Amino acid sequence: MKLSTPIEYVKGVGPQRGEKLQSELGVLTCEDLLNLFPFRYNDRSQFHKVNQLHPDMPNVQIVGKLRHIQEFGKPRQRRLSAKLVDETGTVELVWFKGVQWVKKNLKEGVDYVLFGKPSIFKGKINFAHPELEPLSKANARKKASLEPVYSTTEKLTGVGLHSKGLAKLIKTVLDSGEIRFEETMSKELMEHYKLIDKTKAYHIVHQPPDSRSLQMARYRLKFEELFFVQMQILRSKLNRQEKYKGFVFERVGENFNNFYQNHLPFELTRAQKRVMKELRRDLGTGEQMNRLLQGDVGSGKTMVALLTMLIAIDNGYQCAMIAPTEILANQHYVTLKEQLEGTGINVDLLTGSIKKSDRKPIHEQLEKGETNILVGTHALLQESVRFANLGIVVIDEQHRFGVAQRSKMWRKNTRPPHVLVMSATPIPRTLAMTLYGDLSVSVIDELPPGRKPIETIHKRDQHRLEVFGFLKKEIEKGRQVYIVYPLIEESAKMDYKDLMDGYEAISRAFPPPDYRISIVHGKMKAEDKDYEMQQFVDGNTQIMVATTVIEVGVNVPNASVMVIESAERFGLSQLHQLRGRVGRGAEQSYCVLMTGNKLSAEARKRMETMVRTQDGFEVAEVDLELRGPGDIMGTQQSGVLNLQIADLAKDGKLLQLARHAAIQVLKEDPKLELPQNSNVAKGYAKVQKERPNWGRIS
Ligand code: ADP
Ligand code: MG
Repeated sequence: MKLSTPIEYVKGVGPQRGEKLQSELGVLTCEDLLNLFPFRYNDRSQFHKVNQLHPDMPNVQIVGKLRHIQEFGKPRQRRLSAKLVDETGTVELVWFKGVQWVKKNLKEGVDYVLFGKPSIFKGKINFAHPELEPLSKANARKKASLEPVYSTTEKLTGVGLHSKGLAKLIKTVLDSGEIRFEETMSKELMEHYKLIDKTKAYHIVHQPPDSRSLQMARYRLKFEELFFVQMQILRSKLNRQEKYKGFVFERVGENFNNFYQNHLPFELTRAQKRVMKELRRDLGTGEQMNRLLQGDVGSGKTMVALLTMLIAIDNGYQCAMIAPTEILANQHYVTLKEQLEGTGINVDLLTGSIKKSDRKPIHEQLEKGETNILVGTHALLQESVRFANLGIVVIDEQHRFGVAQRSKMWRKNTRPPHVLVMSATPIPRTLAMTLYGDLSVSVIDELPPGRKPIETIHKRDQHRLEVFGFLKKEIEKGRQVYIVYPLIEESAKMDYKDLMDGYEAISRAFPPPDYRISIVHGKMKAEDKDYEMQQFVDGNTQIMVATTVIEVGVNVPNASVMVIESAERFGLSQLHQLRGRVGRGAEQSYCVLMTGNKLSAEARKRMETMVRTQDGFEVAEVDLELRGPGDIMGTQQSGVLNLQIADLAKDGKLLQLARHAAIQVLKEDPKLELPQNSNVAKGYAKVQKERPNWGRIS
C-alpha cells in the first residue's frame, strides 16, 4: 500500500465504507487516512478503584465482576442495566441502545475491564455505554498503554467506523510496511529543531509506544504544519509588496499641524504617540500599509485614526472610515464633526438608513473630492460609492468584517489604499500572527490618564435586591446605570421575555418620578432606539435597560455601573466589551455579573477571569483557551483554521518557533532554489496545491 492508494482498496474498507469515508471526512487515499490524527489518547495503563471515582473525572478504567444484568423500560425502548463490583464498591451500568447485542455478549460473574466516563445518577456512580472487555482477554492482548482516539461521525459509526474502527484501518495501512512519506524538512532544520523523521512520526502518532516518543512525534508534525502555514503567509506578503506600490504620504502638513496644535482636546498618551510614529513610518515608505491597531476599549484608537486621516488629507487623499453598526458609525460621525469643527475639513456620513434621495449629494461631493472623510457602515463597500482619490481606509472593530468585504475597499482607487484596521477585541498574539501574519500590528497598551480600574463583582440572582440597593446609591450620586440582557438569535423570543420581565421588575424597584428608565432592544424601530439612547446620553434617564445592541460604540462617561444579567450566557470577549462601556469618566465604576446558582465549570472560569483581570489581552487568552480559535471572530465559517494537528490555542510557542524558522529559510533563499532546501521546496509546493492559501486571509 502506498500513500496514494485509494482508500477503498484497503483491506476492510470496500466501496461502501470508502464512499462514506470520502463524504464524511474527505478521505480519498491512504495518505488522507493517516492525516486523521487522534485528538486524544486514553491512558490505559492506569486503573482506579470504585471508591475513588468521582463524576468530575474524565474516562477511567476499573476492573470488576459483572452482576445483575436487567432489562427494563417499555417494550419499544428496552434498556439494560447492570452492576460492576470490585472490593471497594459497586457502580451502575446502563445501556439505552444495542441492548440485544450487550445481552448476548456480556456474562454475569465474569471479570471485566471497564473503560468509560463516570457520572452521577441518583447519588450513585453510573456509566452509560461503557466499554467492557473480559479481563482474561485484556491480559492476553499486549495492550498499548496509550490508545489513540479519533473523531468520527454518526454515519461512519453506522458502518462500524467508530474510533476503534478507524484505528484498525490505520493500523492495517501502517503495518503493510510500505508507507513512506517524503521528507519535507531540510537536514539543517531537522538538526537544529530536533525533528524526527516524518514517516516515523506518523507511525508513532497513530501507535505510540510511550508518551515520550509521542511527544516528539507530535512536535515534529505540528512544527511542519505551522512552518508551512507561516511560509505561505510570509511569501504572499513578499509577493504583495512586489506587486503593489502604496501611495506615499510624504508630508505632514497644515491640516495635521493645525489640528494637533489648536484642536486636540487632550495630550496623547505615550502609547498613542508611539503608534502614530509607527503609522507615519509605514505611510511614507511607498509600500501599501496593512496595519492592525489593537487597543483595549477606551484606549483612544479613534484619535489615532483621525490623526492618520489628517496626514492622508495633507497629501491630497480622501479617507473612509467604516464601522460595523449604524449607532457606531453615527457616533464616529458626530465625534469627528465636533472635533474637526473650524478646521475646514469635510466629514460626511453614509449608512444604509440614509434615504436614496438624500444620497445623491453625498455621492456627488465624494466623487468631486469635496468630501475629505466619509464615515459609514457596510454601505461604503457598494460599488456605487466612488471616491475621487481614496488614500486610506480605517476599519473599526475589524473582527466583524470578512476578508472579502475588506478587499472590496482595495479596488476603490487605481492602487490599493492604505488600510488601518482597529480592534478592541485583543487578539491573542499567537492568533494574530497566524490570522494576520501578513499585517503589521500596533498596540495601544495604555489607557488615557485618570481612569480608575473598574471593579468587577459576581453576584447570584438571589442577591438582586442588594444589587438594586447599590444601584440606588450610585444614582443618588448622580451616576447612570446600564442593565444588559443577553440576546441570542435562536432563542430571541425567550430573551425578549426575559428582558420585558426584567424591565417590569426594574420599573417596580425604581419607580418614577425619582427614577427614569430607558429601554433599547432589537425589536424597536431605529428612530425609537435612537430616541431612547439619546435620552440616556443626555442624562434624562438614569437607567438604560438593553439587550446587547449597546455592545459596541456608545460612549456615556457618566455611566458608572454595568449590570449584566444572565452573565453566564455571554462569552468572555462580549463580557469584556460590555464592561468597557463604563469606566470612561473619572468616577469609580463597577461591573456586576449576575448569574444563576448552577454554573458549568467553564462559566465559572469566565466569571472568575472577569473578576480577576481587566486586561483585555489576558481575557482574550483565557477566551482562546476555553473556546478554541475556531470560535473566535467568525474564523470558523471561513474555514481558515483547519489545522490538522497543531492547535493555535495551545501551540503558541511552537508557532513562534516555526515562524522564526520560516523567516530564516526565506531570508537566505526567498524562492527556495538552493539545493539544501529541496525538501522544503517540494513540501511547500505540495502544501500550496492542497491547502487553502493562508496568505490570503488578511
Ligand atoms: P476606543 O479605543 O475604545 O475606540 P475611543 O477612541 O472611543 O476608544 O476613546 C475613548 C475615550 O477616551 C474618548 O472619549 C476619547 O475622546 C478619550 N481619549 C482618547 N485619547 C485620550 C487621551 N490621550 N487623553 C484623554 N482622553 C482620551
Ligand atoms: Mg472605538
